[in-house]
Amino acid sequence: MVIITGQCHCGNIDYQLRWPTPAHALRGRACGCGYCQRQGAVWTSDPNAHLDVIIKQAAQVSHYHFGHSTATFHLCAICGIVPFASSESGHHLAAVTNINTFTSLEPRAVQHEPSDFEGETSQARLARRRRNWTPLRISAAQ
Ligand SMILES: [Zn+2]
Repeated sequence: MVIITGQCHCGNIDYQLRWPTPAHALRGRACGCGYCQRQGAVWTSDPNAHLDVIIKQAAQVSHYHFGHSTATFHLCAICGIVPFASSESGHHLAAVTNINTFTSLEPRAVQHEPSDFEGETSQARLARRRRNWTPLRISAAQ
C-alpha cells in the first residue's frame, strides 16, 4: 500500500490515492477521446485502490459531461485543472485519477499505455468502470 498525494494547481481540489500495489506497477492511460486529448489528461485506476478527495470551495468546482454523460469530469474553476473524473452506477461511486496532478510521484516516471473506448455502449462502459475504477469519497475541507 502506498499513498499518493495530488491536487489541482491552486489546491482547491486535493486528494490522497491509496494504491494497493507498489507505485511502479501503476499505469497511466492516455485516453484517446477528444476531451482527454485536449486536456492532456492521463488516467489511472484500480478497483482495490481508494481515492479520497477533499474540496475547499465546492462552488469553485465545475462538472463537465459529454457523450453518454456517464462520466463527470471535476474541473477546478479557479485554476482549470481536472484531477479526477467520476462515474456512478447504482450506489457505486468510482473514479479515475489524472496522474498529471500527482504531487508525491513524478508523473513522467509513470508508464503509459494507450486506450480508446470509442464505440462502447453506455451499459458496457458502466460495467467496465465498475470492474476497473477506484472507489471514491468526496468530502469538504474542515
Ligand atoms: Zn485549482
